[in-house]
Amino acid sequence: MKKYSLFAIAREAMRGHRGWEKQWVSPEPKAGYDVIIIGAGGHGLGAAYYLAKEHGITNVAVLEKGWLGGGNTGRNTTIIRSNYLYDESAGIYDHALKLWDGLSQDLNYNVMFSPRGVMMLAHNVGDIQSLKRHVHANRLNGVDNEWLTPEQAKEFCPPLNISRNARYPVMGATLQRRGGTARHDAVAWGYARGASARGVDIIQNCEVTGIRRGPDGAVTGVETSRGFIGAKKIGVVAAGNTSVVMSMADVRMPLESYPLQALVSEPIKPVVPCVVMSNTVHAYISQSDKGELVIGAGTDQYYSYSQAGALHNLEHTVDAICEMFPIFTRMKMLRSWGGVVDVTPDRSPILAKTPVPGLYVNCGWGTGGFKATPGSAHVFAHTIARDEPHPINAPFSLERFRTGRLIDEAAAAAVAH
Ligand SMILES: Cc1cc2nc3c(=O)[nH]c(=O)nc-3n(C[C@H](O)[C@H](O)[C@H](O)COP(=O)(O)OP(=O)(O)OC[C@H]3O[C@@H](n4cnc5c(N)ncnc54)[C@H](O)[C@@H]3O)c2cc1C
Repeated sequence: MKKYSLFAIAREAMRGHRGWEKQWVSPEPKAGYDVIIIGAGGHGLGAAYYLAKEHGITNVAVLEKGWLGGGNTGRNTTIIRSNYLYDESAGIYDHALKLWDGLSQDLNYNVMFSPRGVMMLAHNVGDIQSLKRHVHANRLNGVDNEWLTPEQAKEFCPPLNISRNARYPVMGATLQRRGGTARHDAVAWGYARGASARGVDIIQNCEVTGIRRGPDGAVTGVETSRGFIGAKKIGVVAAGNTSVVMSMADVRMPLESYPLQALVSEPIKPVVPCVVMSNTVHAYISQSDKGELVIGAGTDQYYSYSQAGALHNLEHTVDAICEMFPIFTRMKMLRSWGGVVDVTPDRSPILAKTPVPGLYVNCGWGTGGFKATPGSAHVFAHTIARDEPHPINAPFSLERFRTGRLIDEAAAAAVAH
């Protein structure tokens, strides 16, 4: 694989850009692999990349029913932060944040990580107590987070409405300066390119329709729309479709799937310098490098596998944005879309071995897994390669729903993010 560099750009500019290679190859599936990953989102592609890079396991295929990055990875609002409440969450989300920092260099692919700061607004006494609790807990875990007065919040984000006459006045905010955004599809493309260069087969338009098991119960391979493919180990990373895939191996998952929507405005000059979130008014916003306001809504109230949500959710979200930023009341919205998110009872992910030998699962990221992509992929690769969890993902087991050792991040996930 040719390295991307200033020199390469200059050389290709001189010869009409005819020398660029395909970023990844799309081979026919082989008869069998050491590891099959189901789902070519950021988490699945990343796991394949780290399996090859850090564990020397290259006889790997990533099977994708649609197109690479076409799931939630390419549909999310790209907010990255690690200011969750519990120690276990600090472990995994901050592991990811540290990897985000050097990811473009590691992949030799610009994922446009932009640590522009994530601000979370407090509008009542309950919010203040909860958000300050997060600040203290984060600091105990070495995760940066600070408390701002309304005036400091406005200084950090000038268009924010901090009028005392607002229906839900801003009474303070937290700020995680290391948080921010990244370009979502570049993350999928960068991991795909890195994995493919190390020998991983990325096979698109290949839907897994069954999981085959041997007499001892261990996995032996998958039935797909392109025939049977053998596998010694299988990692399921199928986001909103995870329960469907896992049921193929007779494993019942504690997951609910909901549509989650987002929308973008027409592009405007830079005006929102950071990410602003409000759990109470229930919306969040940032601005893309193209100039569009990127706005996230909440989940639908009903389960569904439809990648489109209810209109009233978008209306509610736009109302909330206008409440926080009255200057946007005359903005035009360009487009909206939806993804299917997989939600666990405690709003924390499952990254674990399963009762079926050779079958591993990485799911339950719900409305907020993009931020975790590098960290999750990294420890999931470890779990598959060594057949035991990494200390960081050990608490995110399936057993916790039986033992009751939940990691209840429902408050941190009150608004989709
Ligand atoms: C609107 C929206 C906004 C969001 N905003 C944020 C945010 O700001 N910050 C944040 O951190 N997170 C956010 N998220 C959540 C985040 O997008 C996800 O948690 C994350 O992208 C999940 O990545 P993944 O790789 O696990 O899943 P995906 O990218 O969904 O990949 C799973 C893949 O599995 C494939 N698949 C499913 N079934 C099969 C099968 N049977 N055979 C083969 N392939 C199959 C799918 O086609 C899909 O491509 C948002 C999500 C949405 C929908």
